[in-house]
Amino acid sequence: MDRLTPEARSANMKAVRRKDTAPEMIVRRLLHAAGYRYRLHVKKLPGSPDIVFPGRKKAIFVHGCFWHGHDCRAGRRPQSRQDYWVPKIARNRERDAASVDALSRSGWTSLTVWECRVTDRDSLTEQLVDFLGPAGSVIDGKERG
Ligand SMILES: [Zn+2]
Repeated sequence: MDRLTPEARSANMKAVRRKDTAPEMIVRRLLHAAGYRYRLHVKKLPGSPDIVFPGRKKAIFVHGCFWHGHDCRAGRRPQSRQDYWVPKIARNRERDAASVDALSRSGWTSLTVWECRVTDRDSLTEQLVDFLGPAGSVIDGKERG
């Protein structure tokens, strides 16, 4: 019983796929190429971080600039419907900060990678290596990172 037209279904599929956002895919590909191993969207951790390194107790959030209120061009608020966006984005920011706090209280460190920063691969790689330490330096059971 599928009453969706092919067009509607394809639009649906696109919406579903957006969960693995393009910026996140860029970060994942970079990490993988650099030899890091990770888990994705770990729901039992505060904020369900996008990319998780259990052996290192490190977590990465890849945030869209608009939705998470980055202080950059892409994070600028639209002039219309401010009563809608402003509180919504404020709530996201509060939730993000609370997740980082909760992670840190359980001994985890976290890094936020902003969507607008993933285009500069060299500086992104540098930032990731700085945060994680060298690839392959941690071995924990299932994960050889
Ligand atoms: Zn940004």
